[in-house]
Amino acid sequence: MTQEIRKTAAQSWDKAGWRAYPRVQMPDYTDPAALQAVEAQLRRYPPLVFAGEARRLRDRLADVAAGRSFLLQGGDCAESFGEFSADNIRDTFKLLLQMAVVLTWGAQLPVVKVGRMAGQFAKPRSAATETVDGVELPSYRGDIVNGFDFTPEARTPDPNRMLAAYTQAAASLNLLRAFSTGGYADMHRVQNWIADFVGGPEAAKYRDIADRIRDAMAFMQAAGVNSDTAHQLGKVDFYTSHEALLLEYEEALARTDSTTGLPVAGSGHMIWIGDRTRQPDGAHVEFCRGVQNPIGLKCGPTTTADDLKVLMARLNPDNEAGRLTLIARFGAGKVGDHLPRLIRAVQEEGANVVWSCDPMHGNTIKSASGYKTRPFDSVLREVREFFAIHNVEGTIPGGVHFEMTGQDVTECTGGVRAVTDEDLSDRYHTACDPRLNASQSLELAFLVAEELRA
Ligand code: PEP
Ligand code: MN
Repeated sequence: MTQEIRKTAAQSWDKAGWRAYPRVQMPDYTDPAALQAVEAQLRRYPPLVFAGEARRLRDRLADVAAGRSFLLQGGDCAESFGEFSADNIRDTFKLLLQMAVVLTWGAQLPVVKVGRMAGQFAKPRSAATETVDGVELPSYRGDIVNGFDFTPEARTPDPNRMLAAYTQAAASLNLLRAFSTGGYADMHRVQNWIADFVGGPEAAKYRDIADRIRDAMAFMQAAGVNSDTAHQLGKVDFYTSHEALLLEYEEALARTDSTTGLPVAGSGHMIWIGDRTRQPDGAHVEFCRGVQNPIGLKCGPTTTADDLKVLMARLNPDNEAGRLTLIARFGAGKVGDHLPRLIRAVQEEGANVVWSCDPMHGNTIKSASGYKTRPFDSVLREVREFFAIHNVEGTIPGGVHFEMTGQDVTECTGGVRAVTDEDLSDRYHTACDPRLNASQSLELAFLVAEELRA
């Protein structure tokens, strides 16, 4: 029945339909022939993910909506061509697995693991241009659009970059699939990595939790539950996600699911709509409403209850569990001003959603040393406010969404291996927003786990 309704909706939707709607945050390509050639090429390429996988993630997110699982989503603000390497992918994947084990202990629930990986290239910007020493050039919009160097050549949007992004995403996914099933992700290895982290002097305060995780694993082992007998312990389900911002790319990779006959985005398992592109009558909402993937929707201080109601009706007309994840990003100290009114809007509509907390995008500040940064304490505080409000409202805080990397960067301040304002210049590698480093991310997982247990 539901399938039939969805088919009817799909009939009034076309993957190119977004072109008739107002678009924001997208580049103006100057060479239409080059753009069309790239789009034609991408249409011939295989999809990066398969419809059955996207449907499976939707089912897992339905578990999150019902409080039977917890969502962990994380990765770079923007993947880049320059930082692309097997080691970087491995380290971020490895970190997400460690965080997932700690959160599994905290939530006492399975953790659904979703990377901001293998497609997170396009960036919305607060200004269309940037001026340096009197020279004005287009803003950098992510490696899939233009280059970071402040030259007219680099900053001119080049459609061929979409092909490079596709290739990088395909290679990333190939590696992630191998890591997920090839023994690398074995729970026992992950537990050993966690032991390494708490073995250092700074993280000693988390040793107790790590010991309890180790004891639980030892108990399972003794009871005969190990990677050989329980396939689940030797591999993981890992999903990819990115902001569906560059719609020419998304359209070209959209496919028809041969099982259901419904359209599906082939660019990643989950796609989300950013805080700057969530206009209910805009191109991004129009594209996303028609694909059956799980959809994320960023909700910020300017999201009105009325807009949210329209967006929920448009993006999830059948009110299916797991289809829509609301990603709250208000900033520490502001969650109480906004989350309750949006929870109320959801309740008034009887809408089935996952609530996730992005404690990154509302907490960006400029440090005294001039770098864009995020204080660890603000990130933690926003997560705590998010949990506290859901507890009061009797609703489910379903997950967390972080900008993070497995590398030892100095982009966010604070944490047990404290990064100070002065340290920021040491290893500030992000081309876009500041990410939590490996130590800060794992520490945050421990603190969130304590919060979930409280
Ligand atoms: C992002 O997730 O990188 C981003 C730009 O977020 P938002 O749309 O919430 O500002
Ligand atoms: Mn970001």
